[in-house]
Amino acid sequence: MKRRQFLHGAGAGLLAVSATGCAAIAAPGRNAPHVVVIGGGYGGATAARYLRMWSGQGIAVTVIEPNPAFISCPLSNLVLGGSATLADLTLTYERLVRVHGVRVLRDSATAIDTARRTVTLAGGAVLGYDRLVLSPGIELLSGALPGLERADAQQQVLHAWKAGPQTAALRAQLAAMPDGGVFALTIPPAPYRCPPGPYERACQVAHYFSAFKPRAKVLILDANDDVVSKGALFKRIWRERYGGIVEYRPSFRTAAVDAGARTAISELGDRVQASVLNVIPPQRAGAIAVQTGLANVNGNWCGVDFLTFESTAAPYVHVLGDAIQTSPLMPKSAHMANQHAKVCAAAIVELLAGRAPAPDPVLTNTCYSFVSARDVIHVASVHAYDAARKTLLVVPGSGGVSQDASAIEGEYAWNWARNIWADTLG
Ligand SMILES: Cc1cc2nc3c(=O)[nH]c(=O)nc-3n(C[C@H](O)[C@H](O)[C@H](O)COP(=O)(O)OP(=O)(O)OC[C@H]3O[C@@H](n4cnc5c(N)ncnc54)[C@H](O)[C@@H]3O)c2cc1C
Repeated sequence: MKRRQFLHGAGAGLLAVSATGCAAIAAPGRNAPHVVVIGGGYGGATAARYLRMWSGQGIAVTVIEPNPAFISCPLSNLVLGGSATLADLTLTYERLVRVHGVRVLRDSATAIDTARRTVTLAGGAVLGYDRLVLSPGIELLSGALPGLERADAQQQVLHAWKAGPQTAALRAQLAAMPDGGVFALTIPPAPYRCPPGPYERACQVAHYFSAFKPRAKVLILDANDDVVSKGALFKRIWRERYGGIVEYRPSFRTAAVDAGARTAISELGDRVQASVLNVIPPQRAGAIAVQTGLANVNGNWCGVDFLTFESTAAPYVHVLGDAIQTSPLMPKSAHMANQHAKVCAAAIVELLAGRAPAPDPVLTNTCYSFVSARDVIHVASVHAYDAARKTLLVVPGSGGVSQDASAIEGEYAWNWARNIWADTLG
């Protein structure tokens, strides 16, 4: 106690500050509460960092994540357009460990026993927890589409909807495509990860074609009846910037794929053949959530209490990010996963101290979309807790949408990314 001063911050639990004023990592005591976090993506890593900071390092935090590094999905469409590389979007867990004292285990959770409060790892270890945070992202249901069940078909017809090797492989397919060829992109029914993401991807590929393959086309086959996000803006951009390159076809519900012939088949039997076929399959909560019975909304998404993000299926388990059944008009985005994580971390700090969580969380979201290498549009919203309806509702008049694409928004978008990466990984 001589070297440290303990401060009580409003809504922030205990904060340990060394005599020099620098934050110091305190090893949690022998009986310190233990929070296990499954998934070191936008939701999980942010929760881990804030649990450590807002508990004054009084909570021991273990993150389970199979990947050696964090690769950002936001901005990964730029890799397809050619103005960024995967290396630009790859970050390490080093600061989370060294600065924040989070234990990061490179492993996968294979089972959760919600009665005994244990997590079993692929490597064989069994971890006990006081609270579990689950942010496993999405499971892509490629195998549920006839013609895409087999691994070799999935190697040919890519999704590139988790940034990483598939992003690089899709970029290589585009580079190898002849001028005059067709890139066809199928979009699943909403809800899916990142509502504007597929339309941003169409812009990025069109931008690349306009410079390097001017006779090539982008064909968007959308299962939805209209563009799901920033519709008027995207349509204007396709018309004004990419006229003759981008064609948008709504209500094309992909029911099967002929991978060898690079053909998407709609539920009405329409067949569309492409030089490069990119199928973004239907999605649900990450497999570990489904297998544990936490995906209690249509068997696809995890119901949560929006004050704490505690599961409505199992106590002491909190679910974040894309895996949850969202509140009305809440997108499945990195920005939202980051906000879920902070509400959840603050609530866990309070609950472990025997106090009630804050009754009135407010969350914000901005989704930027690059329509060229430089120019960007955005949509923003504010979501406040409504005690009567026990959900988060968009604050009337909040947020907004760009009037047009601009380079200054491109700078904001890169700054947004750098800020959220620092906020997620320390
Ligand atoms: C092309 C594209 C562009 C996007 N652009 C934007 C954007 O501009 N802005 C924005 O806000 N959002 C964007 N998004 C959406 C954003 O990427 C997701 O909403 C966000 O990643 C969700 O965070 P999460 O924590 O739920 O999942 P993730 O970030 O995917 O993290 C899940 C983690 O859990 C791990 N995991 C899964 N199962 C297990 C297990 N059993 N054991 C251990 N670990 C496990 C995974 O390896 C992964 O690292 C984009 C997405 C795509 C695909």
